[in-house]
Amino acid sequence: MNNIRENIALAPFTTLGVGGAARWFIDSASVKDVIGALGEAKRRGIGVAVLGGGSNTLVPDIGIDGLVLHISIPGIELVSENNEVLLITGGGVAWDAVVTYASEHALWGIENLAAIPGTIGAAPVQNIGAYGRELSNVFEWADVVERNSGDTKRITKYDAAFGYRDSIFKKNNAWVITKVALCLSRTGVPDISYKDLADISAVGGVLSTPAQVANAVRTVRTNKMPPAGLGSAGSFFKNPIITHKDYAALQKRIPGIIGFECAGNIKVPLAWILDHVLNLRGVSFGTVQLYEKHLLVLITKSNATETDINKCAREISTQVYEATGITIEREVQTLKVC
Ligand SMILES: Cc1cc2nc3c(=O)[nH]c(=O)nc-3n(C[C@H](O)[C@H](O)[C@H](O)COP(=O)(O)OP(=O)(O)OC[C@H]3O[C@@H](n4cnc5c(N)ncnc54)[C@H](O)[C@@H]3O)c2cc1C
Repeated sequence: MNNIRENIALAPFTTLGVGGAARWFIDSASVKDVIGALGEAKRRGIGVAVLGGGSNTLVPDIGIDGLVLHISIPGIELVSENNEVLLITGGGVAWDAVVTYASEHALWGIENLAAIPGTIGAAPVQNIGAYGRELSNVFEWADVVERNSGDTKRITKYDAAFGYRDSIFKKNNAWVITKVALCLSRTGVPDISYKDLADISAVGGVLSTPAQVANAVRTVRTNKMPPAGLGSAGSFFKNPIITHKDYAALQKRIPGIIGFECAGNIKVPLAWILDHVLNLRGVSFGTVQLYEKHLLVLITKSNATETDINKCAREISTQVYEATGITIEREVQTLKVC
């Protein structure tokens, strides 16, 4: 293949900005490219790691001894003129460009997910979510290429097994997502149940169109998320979900702890534990710091490494376990070939 490149530094392709190089690297701008790249990897006997915008990815310091397949498939179209509209996009389109496109066409459904970095191809992988909404609320289907066979197929919402930051795409890691269809609506009601949005509305902010809600979300996020230039991957950890029984025990151990009903269990805000139980607000572990405005976000200094981030993450996990008995899970994925 003539578009295969060798020894490509991966840090610039990620928002954390750490890690080594890819032994091989291909940029895929079409389904044909993806199938060709997977075939090439098979011929060479090397594994493949898939990369979108790199905003939820930790690259190992030793790099990737295999092929990194970077998805940049373009394209965005509306295919229905009814009240319910199918918005179909190539897997490499920036997620926030999709939100902007939907807002410009006054389509409801993804306005609360404004300003989440990354590509739409990765959005179903961890079922992106924010401000009370998740991708699963609007996901219709994704076209994928099967990594082993190179065959194409369509995974619908009925097979996607979405959960909190989880999906079939994450669980089995067997497919490369090349196209995503979302079902949006020409009519809708703003979901401003989340406190930050309710506060904007309470002081007279008008949130009656998808564009207005998306812009309000952007404002809130700008105040909460690290500024450009600081390495981060958004929330590094997931909020733990525990049983009612474990939560009751925790309430005895940690008076004042908060939790929210979540599909028959309790979701405990990890940031609250990091702040009120462990006093980790703004604390640094070497080159890595818990961002003081949003404790689930780890920010990195320019000389940070993957090793530093793992060390910090392990330290946080240990402290949480010792204080609460809860084993926390990472939201950020370490890039690996398979
Ligand atoms: C400042 C900041 C704020 C964030 N806020 C949020 C938030 O509010 N909510 C939220 O849910 N997330 C948030 N994130 C995390 C991140 O933006 C999302 O997870 C996003 O969907 C990742 O997209 P990406 O293209 O960058 O994926 P990448 O980091 O490139 O990849 C993530 C995973 O998906 C796989 N993948 C990527 N593309 C494909 C594809 N086409 N087919 C198959 N697998 C693929 C990769 O192999 C990897 O395992 C935030 C990140 C940052 C940096």
